[in-house]
Amino acid sequence: MTSDLRLDDPHTISTRYWHARPDGRIQCDVCPRACRLHEGQRGLCFVRGRLGDRIVLATYGRSSGFCVDPIEKKPLYHFLPGSAALSFGTAGCNLACRFCQNWDISTSRETDSLTDAASPTDLAEVAERLGCRSIAFTYNDPVIFLEYAMDVAGACRERGIRSVAVSAGYMCDTARRDLYAHIDAANIDLKAFSPQFYAKVAFGRLEPVLDTLRYLRHETDVFLEITTLLIPGHNDSTAEIDTLTRWVAEELGPDVPLHFSAFHPSHKMLGVPPTPPATLSAARDIGLANGLRFVYTGNVRDPDGTTTTCPGCGRAVIRRDGYRIGHYGLDDTGRCRACRTQLPGRFSGPVGTWGPRRMTVRMAGIVGRDGEDGR
Ligand code: SF4
Repeated sequence: MTSDLRLDDPHTISTRYWHARPDGRIQCDVCPRACRLHEGQRGLCFVRGRLGDRIVLATYGRSSGFCVDPIEKKPLYHFLPGSAALSFGTAGCNLACRFCQNWDISTSRETDSLTDAASPTDLAEVAERLGCRSIAFTYNDPVIFLEYAMDVAGACRERGIRSVAVSAGYMCDTARRDLYAHIDAANIDLKAFSPQFYAKVAFGRLEPVLDTLRYLRHETDVFLEITTLLIPGHNDSTAEIDTLTRWVAEELGPDVPLHFSAFHPSHKMLGVPPTPPATLSAARDIGLANGLRFVYTGNVRDPDGTTTTCPGCGRAVIRRDGYRIGHYGLDDTGRCRACRTQLPGRFSGPVGTWGPRRMTVRMAGIVGRDGEDGR
């Protein structure tokens, strides 16, 4: 087989997450997909492939685009609220969700979508110049481009800029430890709470995702939030939401924020209707009844479902309207101004003022403001 992978390509680098198998194939050890590759083959994620006696990453330093977004859009509600995050992704994915909301990026074959490029230092400089307090690896999963993500996070950390991973958490242990040593906050997509859903709809497995959640919560300082997209008829039963929220409360604790987000028909699930707002509200009620303190609704306009309530005095301490923060009742360290209860999260200074704006960025210069994107 003729390979299009070349080590003299400036965006192709050698990796260290693989091992040779007795049958002559090389197995990638980044994620539980465990692609076993002959010479010239690429893995399911497409961005990693075999070149000679190693696995390479073919998209180092390349991106499908950069935007400055509100941190609330990741979504992270307890991490530097109101601040701007320089956000980007690359191409490909290590899952194959039938409902993917970013399928144009996740299923693309690198060269047709990776139109922008930036070194880690360039990205850190641009983030600082634009007043971003964090950089977010999002749009597609940083698991598959972790070497680039780690270098970008390192360059950002030198400038006091935090790093955020938005991920499905489908990783092997060594790669997971290496990536998250560089990350300050994560939103992990817990797609459902049934192995059947993961097998049939996401073409993956549930257990490694639960391992990532346990690891982040109990073995790191990464601030963790979770998102579950509720898909009508697939993962939105009362029983499944009850089981999921009990697990989060018991295994991770009541302070991990959980976002129930609305599905919109997409990709290979165009025939499934959008999530009714009542389903999101009911899921939120179940989570709160099971002891979780911070359960939110997402992808719908729902002021009650996006309000943060102080667990000490019961007052609303952060009111949101889409991605815009209205009332803010916390001090600079995240304590309730009324009762002094410390809220879980990372709070540092006054609430940010970025608002719901979304701004497209080209590394050669900012090319245009796209206006508001609040919901
Ligand atoms: S990271 Fe990519 S190549 Fe490696 S095992 Fe996962 S899907 Fe396969």
